[in-house]
Amino acid sequence: MTNTNKRHKVLIVEDHHDMLVVLRKYLEDQNYDVIEAETGETGIKQFEEAKPDLVLLDVMLPGISGLEVIKLIRSKQQEQVFVPIIIITAKNDITDIVNGLGTGADDYIVKPFHFDELIARIKSALRLKQLNELLINQSLNLESANKKINGLNGELVSKNKELRKNIYGLHSLFEVSMDLSSILELSGLINSTLLTIIGQYSTKSAMFMLANPKKNSQLEISDSRGFDDKLKDVIVHYEDTLVQYFIERPSPIIMDELKTKINTSSSFNKLEHLGISLIAPVLIKKKVAGLICFGPRLKEDQYEEREIQQITILSNIISISVNNASLYKEVEQLSYTDGMTELHNYRYFKLRLKEEIIRHQRTKAGLSLLILDVDSFKNFNDTLGHQAGDSVLRQLGRLLKETARENDIVARYGGEEFAIILPTVDQEGAMILAERIRENVEKTPFDGEHVQPKGMLTVSIGEASLTDDSDFDELIRMADLALYSAKDNGRNQVCSYKPEMNETK
Ligand code: GH3
Ligand code: MG
Ligand code: MG
Repeated sequence: MTNTNKRHKVLIVEDHHDMLVVLRKYLEDQNYDVIEAETGETGIKQFEEAKPDLVLLDVMLPGISGLEVIKLIRSKQQEQVFVPIIIITAKNDITDIVNGLGTGADDYIVKPFHFDELIARIKSALRLKQLNELLINQSLNLESANKKINGLNGELVSKNKELRKNIYGLHSLFEVSMDLSSILELSGLINSTLLTIIGQYSTKSAMFMLANPKKNSQLEISDSRGFDDKLKDVIVHYEDTLVQYFIERPSPIIMDELKTKINTSSSFNKLEHLGISLIAPVLIKKKVAGLICFGPRLKEDQYEEREIQQITILSNIISISVNNASLYKEVEQLSYTDGMTELHNYRYFKLRLKEEIIRHQRTKAGLSLLILDVDSFKNFNDTLGHQAGDSVLRQLGRLLKETARENDIVARYGGEEFAIILPTVDQEGAMILAERIRENVEKTPFDGEHVQPKGMLTVSIGEASLTDDSDFDELIRMADLALYSAKDNGRNQVCSYKPEMNETK
């Protein structure tokens, strides 16, 4: 904007020297700075060099004409600056005035003129200059603001798109999380996780590695989807740099990035060979309990930042769910375990016997049951106390577990009674095992057994095998009858069920 206290610079282009002198004198008296030119050529030169605020131009010039000068001035004028041009014309020369205004002059004054009129016109032209420059500046500002708005608008549109994507992603993440956190059974949880990965992140495959509870020092594949190769030999040891990395930085990471962060190992190479694109750790109590491995992506897309963030949340939820599932398994196991002997309890016995009966009915592979009772145990307790009795029951429990085969189900049936389910074993086989147990108990020295009637701890065993027309209750009844029979016959012996036993009872 033009400062009003500033002295204005006026360029006078006038070929009449006398006129020039008079004009200069008058304008200087009125506080204007004056620059002079006596030809069009010098006028243009001065215009460029001195940058005047206003040009007073005689249209009748030698050399290039006044109109040419106007055109050249307008073409050389800077964008943000407006320099008004007032032409001086001969009296009543309408053509000069029309042409001059048409070419770009802003006002005119006709010779001879009164100096007051000239000053009035100069002032009016300078006001025009001020106004014009204000407008120019405002329109430039508007233009740049507009550009900024357009840019911001574009940014908003793309941000909006991104947000929509993210909202969609978070929405499905929420649904998946609700599902995952409600699954208490580990294999179901893993299955859902793998399907979620393939579905949500468009991977060709996915696999879930978990700590092997028996071999505490390694992670093994617990389930996978979409891999053609045999995956059995993929094992990651706890000492592997891969596992060490996740202990320090427990977040998902893209394989390519991981490669630059660790010394690659043979297990890393195997995972890379399978096309794993991203690994998310499953952490329980700051320990790497598992690895969720994302297979190659369908469109070979890079993972976006928002996807990595979602996967971070997802893997945290899965970590919690895996922990819940293992806790649930533990609780479930506890509820099926007899606290004193650590054998299965009656609940478990009942469940398994029913299952084995169904299996036998399908396969006819045979099924036998032994019920075993400690002889004269009341005497033992009464003489040595309950604690000594408990300790004997625990020792007996261990002995039964050791004597039975892997497949046999040994349970504490109640009190000082035990039951052993023998799947795929017929009566003959069951009697052999029962006799071996009886003999083992008889031979094994138990603390305090000298107080027993014959100086040793013994058991009586009833045996029954499942027939076509017997069920759960019937099988137990038959084994019980056989046990009574063994007791009746003098204890420390094995009796097999016979139909006649029904009559004696
Ligand atoms: P038998 O079976 O040879 O006929 O004689 P028994 O003395 O073993 O039979 P009975 O059924 O009369 O007594 C069972 C005893 O087992 C009663 C109880 O003192 C003891 N008993 C049952 N459960 C437990 C237990 O959990 N701990 C201890 N210490 N004793 C138990
Ligand atoms: Mg008893
Ligand atoms: Mg007894």
